[in-house]
Amino acid sequence: MMALVLALAIAAPARAGVALLRDADIEYALRQLAAPILGAAGLSPSQTRILLVDDGSLNAFVADTRHIFIHSGLVSRLETAAQLQAVIAHEAAHIANGHISQRLGNMRSARTAAGLGLVLGAAAAAASGEGQLGAAVALGTQNSAMRSFLSHTRAEESSADIESVRLLARAGIDPRAAVEVQQLFSGQEALSLGRQDPYVRSHPLTRDRLRALEGLVAGQPQAAPDATANYWFARAKGKLTAFQRAPSWTLRRAGDSPSADIRLMREAVAHHRNADTRRALAAIDEALRLRGDDPLLLELKGQILLESRNFDAAVQVYQAAAQRAGSEPLILGGLGRALLAAGRPGEALRALEAAQGRDGTDARLLRDLAMAYAQSGQAGMASVVTAERYALQGRMEDAGLHAARASGLVPRGSGPWQRAQDVLSAAEQAQRR
Ligand SMILES: [Zn+2]
Repeated sequence: MMALVLALAIAAPARAGVALLRDADIEYALRQLAAPILGAAGLSPSQTRILLVDDGSLNAFVADTRHIFIHSGLVSRLETAAQLQAVIAHEAAHIANGHISQRLGNMRSARTAAGLGLVLGAAAAAASGEGQLGAAVALGTQNSAMRSFLSHTRAEESSADIESVRLLARAGIDPRAAVEVQQLFSGQEALSLGRQDPYVRSHPLTRDRLRALEGLVAGQPQAAPDATANYWFARAKGKLTAFQRAPSWTLRRAGDSPSADIRLMREAVAHHRNADTRRALAAIDEALRLRGDDPLLLELKGQILLESRNFDAAVQVYQAAAQRAGSEPLILGGLGRALLAAGRPGEALRALEAAQGRDGTDARLLRDLAMAYAQSGQAGMASVVTAERYALQGRMEDAGLHAARASGLVPRGSGPWQRAQDVLSAAEQAQRR
């Protein structure tokens, strides 16, 4: 049961790719924090997603024009909403100033991209209609060619700094936070590569750059902290650390939370991870009372019930959360998982297919979907989505094996057959490099 309990993390650790940490509540918070900055940068908040990478080191990066990746380690290290917003502003500036599209344009062909370790997750792309994410998720950040693809020149860094200060000021956020973030990394340049945080490699920091940034910020009016932004930052960081730190650490610090509902949410997670379901439910119910049945807190209650094997109750709570949250695919995924556990594969399949239609980039969702297909007697579809899951995780050899099996099981020329062909050709491309 403990293994289940520990799973906020979602994508299994991918050998070749980055593992994303998918959580509806944390992603909602990140969207709230990013919205004013993306707006100021002229980027559409619905087209630019902020995704959390399950990695304790400090980093943030862009690999295409539609996704900003932030390591969970950086979120738990930052102290204020404005600091996280400064990180987002810096990455948004790299996108807005064309640094990443230039680099993507320089890659002459998909073959070059594969050579770089950008395994084309054609399958994931086809499933989600998001051409870019499959590639981004499967990129091998360990690869040295990829490291240089992700790292910016000093000229790009200075242009991103200038633009990010402008974005923060335009969004009414104190640009001093940008200096605070850079100070986190100062001194790291002198360290050996192995001891540096990856942020320092992807965003070369120099003493000149820090001084220039301080100069830019000094001329800006000071902005008051934004209570709403601080709430969402504390909630995201509180949930993240509650799942990642020891429960005793969380219980000691939950009292520092800026509001009672965040304190109770953190305590609920800590009690749950201590397998104390009674106290976990009492805490989350009290938080729900304070927040008027917030669907994202309902989702956490559903998870607590599911992982403590109260399957029917979990289904009811997830249903209420899904109803209130509209089409949030991560909540629909949770509902599907609860229905599967409750032995209702037909209903699970409906919820999981609806979730996949909105977001096909969640590896755990694809695993549950394969199980729902298998339990509904659709072995071919189970193989198609299993192939897509491996492709998404950068495990191209396994992806190819399942895609070949799927090709023989689903009608030739059908949509699912085409998806299997997409994975097959991505797998062949990966093998050639
Ligand atoms: Zn940078």
